[in-house]
Amino acid sequence: MFKYRLLTPGPTPVPEEILLELARPVPHHRTPEARQVLAEVTEGLRYVFQTKHDVIPLTCSGTGAMEAALVHAAPRGAKALCLVAGKFGERWHHIWRTFGVESVAVTVPPGQVVTPAMLEAALRQHPDTQAVCAVHCETSTGVKHDLQALGELVARTNAVFVVDAVSSAGAMELRMDDWQIDFLATGSQKALMLPPGLAFVAVSEKGWQMAQRHQPPTFYFDLKKARQKIREHDTPFTPAHTLLRALCKSLARIRSEGIEAIWSRHARLAYACRAGFRALGLEIFASVPAEGLTAVRVPAQLDGQELLRHVEKHYGVKLAGGQDQLKGKIFRVAHMGYMDFFDILAAIAAVELALRDFGLAITLGAGLAAAQRAYAEFSHP
Ligand SMILES: *Cc1c(COP(=O)(O)O)cnc(C)c1O
Repeated sequence: MFKYRLLTPGPTPVPEEILLELARPVPHHRTPEARQVLAEVTEGLRYVFQTKHDVIPLTCSGTGAMEAALVHAAPRGAKALCLVAGKFGERWHHIWRTFGVESVAVTVPPGQVVTPAMLEAALRQHPDTQAVCAVHCETSTGVKHDLQALGELVARTNAVFVVDAVSSAGAMELRMDDWQIDFLATGSQKALMLPPGLAFVAVSEKGWQMAQRHQPPTFYFDLKKARQKIREHDTPFTPAHTLLRALCKSLARIRSEGIEAIWSRHARLAYACRAGFRALGLEIFASVPAEGLTAVRVPAQLDGQELLRHVEKHYGVKLAGGQDQLKGKIFRVAHMGYMDFFDILAAIAAVELALRDFGLAITLGAGLAAAQRAYAEFSHP
């Protein structure tokens, strides 16, 4: 028998009190109580996004919120720049194309980040760009983008800055207004400690102006209508309101810990996690690692998929593998949301045992000791 440990970068574990909230009977959604829930949720999400703008809840996964943002951010025929450092950056490029936006990808090899200098050069080359799309934490490779620097560059132009913060909001430092982000999207099943099913998008003044200039090709994701409704603490369609009620609980947890303390806690987990795997002689995949997850290169002589199956089957720890061309080459350990240092230790211990099972010369406990030392010595920024 194992205690199953879900340590993937989405979905993530859900705290017990939130699971209990989800077990309560389903209420009706056009009631004063439901309005109260929406009022609380939008206030709490403003705090998570660090914005004064309306945060609009949508019933869909994270990709839905990105699609909602993109169809408002640029009209058919416009030109957009997509900063691509992995699978999620690529996804946004595909969404633009689906809606007839000419998307120019600025692509870096997996494990690298798109730098502000690259964006600057691309903007110079494409001065008619109307939107720039970036992924904060590129979950497929574990890299983090410097949104503040990228946002500064976009803000000097007429283009809007669209950001996927699905795996970073609630884990990594994120300041929508200060970093001049015009469209910010996230989902429920990552650092917000909920099951999948909800997504959120906030829009700046510049973003709304862009959206007013055209008729976004969408019915369900009409953000103008949704904004009007959310201001009355309502939604255009039936929301996943049992999830919204659960979100109130998770936002209350976030509030009581404090968003900056949360960012710092995640930074500490990331720091300890990286130290642990490095001490085993493994390489951290990301050149600029994110605080929400750690991607580790699988030793060349092993098949990463087999390694992860072994870790799950024999030690009950669910880690994520690599996707597409990274399949079998990396594994990813999440440390976002309802995960703590002892979950990280479990991941490191399970990998140590598995590597030993596969015949690698591993000193059991080497990764654990290094992670503990790093955790103990971490100085808060
Ligand atoms: C999980 C994730 C998404 C959204 O995926 P969905 O399956 O649609 O919820 C988008 N971007 C990033 C960076 C993610 O990690």
